Amino acid sequence: MMLKLSQPNISEEAIAAVADVIRSGQLVHGTENEAFEKELAAYLGCEDVVLVSSGTAALHLALLALDIGPNDAVLVPDFTFPATANAVALVGARPVIVDVDPNTYTLSARQLEAVIQTWKGPERLRAIMPVHEFGCPADMQEINRIAKAHGLFVVEDAACALGATFQGRKLGTLGDIGCFSFHPRKTLTTGEGGALCTNDAELARRLRRLRNHGMERTASGMQFFEPATNYRLTNFQAALGRHQLPQLDGWIERRSALAKAYCELLQPLAQTGRLSLPSLIPGHSWQTFMVVLDGLADRNAIILQLRNEGVEANLGAQSLSSIGLYGPVAQDLKYGPLLYQHGLALPLFEKLSLSDVQHVVKALGTLISI
Ligand SMILES: *Cc1c(COP(=O)(O)O)cnc(C)c1O
Repeated sequence: MMLKLSQPNISEEAIAAVADVIRSGQLVHGTENEAFEKELAAYLGCEDVVLVSSGTAALHLALLALDIGPNDAVLVPDFTFPATANAVALVGARPVIVDVDPNTYTLSARQLEAVIQTWKGPERLRAIMPVHEFGCPADMQEINRIAKAHGLFVVEDAACALGATFQGRKLGTLGDIGCFSFHPRKTLTTGEGGALCTNDAELARRLRRLRNHGMERTASGMQFFEPATNYRLTNFQAALGRHQLPQLDGWIERRSALAKAYCELLQPLAQTGRLSLPSLIPGHSWQTFMVVLDGLADRNAIILQLRNEGVEANLGAQSLSSIGLYGPVAQDLKYGPLLYQHGLALPLFEKLSLSDVQHVVKALGTLISI
């Protein structure tokens, strides 16, 4: 039996709710969408939530709604899923890659400041896109301070971080716009799916228009205001998400306990220097548990060997500079490439048992002690 890296947590009730929506015939816009938007806004503690068809769609719409485009540049962390930078490239702007903090794997505020101070263009810096990688909060206090000092928007890529917090406030609600993903690899899933949140009513209105062909319903009927695309979430997907939301905090608690157990059990290996452990940062939602192997270990070989032991593992995330699709890099990058090469994501989901964790730790320990 293979211990999966992650596993969606969908109850029979949730499946029945989806079936009800499908039987109703109201497949696209409907009451489940409206209810899920309201419930998510209440959960996050923000004014508006706009559901969309994926996390990538959310990032794309956020940049469109802020009128970011050609001749603009957006600061992104090196260590992330490429969708962060792809969204910037898709609107015709330039992603400016900044190194991450080795402790949190998120945007380094110090490096961010350094890149902004030495920026020579020709593009105009318009926004910062911190990524709360694996559910770990980026340093939003410093990032917001830097954004304010330089007149930049903040778009949080909270794709992995629904339910995670920074200083008691939900991630996604600390910048101008927050973006979430409901892909099956995230803690709450609708298959494909995503959402944006904002406290700015005008931005919310623009986002609603942009996800729906640039159209608004007015007293005289449908009116088209700007060319746009279709990024709507279906009504039955919203039903699936709605049924998971009340359980999310409990799931995050369980994931935190498992991450803590991993760290305790892996401590002896960490002490030998063969790997380093993630920090148990407050507010982390533990979408992924990733350790960093030392230079002696062949990470890719270890992924294959773990598979033989019935453990699915994988690299954690990509390094944008290492992929090399986004043009020249403004600074020397150290930690993004290192995490990309040596990061090892281990199984983590709510239904994982303590003995599963023990099995993973034992298998990994045997492989890297050789
Ligand atoms: C998953 C993820 C995305 C993309 O979300 P999709 O719903 O798969 O489009 C973007 N950014 C980060 C950091 C992610 O982890």
